[in-house]
Amino acid sequence: MRPRTVFALSFVVSLACVTSPIASQTSSVPTRRVVLISFDAGADWIVDELIARGKAPAFAAVAREGAQADAMISVIPSLTAAAHASLWTGAFPRSHGATDNSMPMAPAAAHTVIERRSGYLSDVLRAEPIWDTAARYGKRVMVIQASNGFPFTNRFPDRVTHFDVYANELLRSALVNGSVGPDGLAFTIGDTHARVTGRDGSSVTLTVGDAHAALAPGTPAFSAPLSVRVGGVEGQTRVGLLEYDAATGRTLLLRGDVVRLVGTDAAARDALMAEAGITVGEVGSGYYQAGGFGRTLADGGTGAAERHLVNATLANQQYFDGALRYAARQPWDLLVLYAPNMDVAGHALVGMLDPDTPGHDPALAEKIWSVYEEMFRRCMDDYVTAIRRLAPDATLVIGADHGVEGNRRWWYPNAVLRDAGLLGENIKGGVDLATTRALFLYSHGGGIFLNSTRFKDGVVTDDQRRDVKAAVRHALLSARDPETGTPLARAVVDTDLDGEALGIGGEFAPDLYFDPTPGYQASARFSSKVIVGPPLVIGMGAHGPFPTRRRLHGIFYAVGPGVRAGARPGIVRQVDPAPTVARLLGIPAPANSVGRALPIE
Ligand SMILES: [Zn+2]
Repeated sequence: MRPRTVFALSFVVSLACVTSPIASQTSSVPTRRVVLISFDAGADWIVDELIARGKAPAFAAVAREGAQADAMISVIPSLTAAAHASLWTGAFPRSHGATDNSMPMAPAAAHTVIERRSGYLSDVLRAEPIWDTAARYGKRVMVIQASNGFPFTNRFPDRVTHFDVYANELLRSALVNGSVGPDGLAFTIGDTHARVTGRDGSSVTLTVGDAHAALAPGTPAFSAPLSVRVGGVEGQTRVGLLEYDAATGRTLLLRGDVVRLVGTDAAARDALMAEAGITVGEVGSGYYQAGGFGRTLADGGTGAAERHLVNATLANQQYFDGALRYAARQPWDLLVLYAPNMDVAGHALVGMLDPDTPGHDPALAEKIWSVYEEMFRRCMDDYVTAIRRLAPDATLVIGADHGVEGNRRWWYPNAVLRDAGLLGENIKGGVDLATTRALFLYSHGGGIFLNSTRFKDGVVTDDQRRDVKAAVRHALLSARDPETGTPLARAVVDTDLDGEALGIGGEFAPDLYFDPTPGYQASARFSSKVIVGPPLVIGMGAHGPFPTRRRLHGIFYAVGPGVRAGARPGIVRQVDPAPTVARLLGIPAPANSVGRALPIE
């Protein structure tokens, strides 16, 4: 269904509902308020482990007083944009259209297969999200952060208040590593000049444009939001002092992402920012993994790198804590929240925590668990407690987009396709589309695109599809780790053959998906000389492969009015929370939902 049709249909239905249907609904179903929160990378196996260790008291209480699923099965691919779109709409990627974090450009005929657009924006979403469903039935909705929400569609401007910060990033974060001399340490943030000058033994003064901030190392150690300009556009950032040595002047600063917080209502946006500030960004895992925070515990570090990871994440969490305080004072029937920080913890640390990671070190894992536990407590367990305290009358529904697992090595499917004669490389290390029949694109979701003639410069015709797919399948399933002989892919599924049952496919979706062997993370890099890279000391926390893998299962919990204590809905699917939330609100499921309202009442 195209967006225009959804709009027209919604409009008719909402007119029809203004009079009697709402009145009769509210008389037969108790009026409830619902909070729906998604914890990015809220892995079911990890929450189970932390409950067992006594480190997740809020989740243990929710399980006791409400509903706890055995697990929630994410979608193919088990990636943030695709899975969240299913969480919001109750539809599978084949139908909601957000098939990956990155997607081919539309229209396909005007763009090559490798040109990409974001899969996080509202323009790729073809199914109705729960916030529009609720508004269509007269409910007031607040959405603090949800993928596929921006640009705001404003279908129900008087009932949906929507905020977004993620789709409006002006500049990626940066580390500033240097020495504060007699003239200070100068750097730029976009078009804006910044300088650090030393003060006394333990703190420094940061000047950004006309603003000054005193920074001392420690928690939270980050400035309030600072206004800067990037390419002439005003945005905000926060700067944190990670390390400062007064004797030598040596300084390590983390400048967060430069972002713009936007909202459907300007006054509400200002009030939210006054309470919450802005995000720092999900910046910690990349710096930690790349050594930007210094040597890790696995590499003989002192624990300082882990401290910086935690502090950067807690600074980011301050926005979400403030957003919750703000939202709790506003009128809504449905509040949609998103919490990103466990994805940072997962990518940074789960390569060391997952006992199935090749080369797992249990002694190191115990040290790393204490780091993960602190992030979990502040960003997830305490957050659940805060929601229940600030919105005590609301029913709380907790989900996730996917879990997380540990990997040790990269492998390069495009090198396998090249060696099989399916992918042509140009001399610049990119793809030669004239000689390329299939390629692995984007992130870690295992999606293989045929270079089909429906794309600009495509070469694979419809009657060649079968043979090319067979050749790809053979090449991937034959690929081996040259050192150990381990197969690198354990399955390949076909959107033509398996798509309807698995919820994959659609105009901009891959033609095949492979499932990498656990322990090996697929990289979409071209022109790799090797099929498999060297083992990484700290491994990698990852997600993207088939969602049936235990470590990639997400969580589902619910508690509050309308939820029975001790409800155990078993294994649930990524499409089930949206119709469950609708049932709790006393309204029909979202227009395109194929999920079931879970038996938790
Ligand atoms: Zn992630």
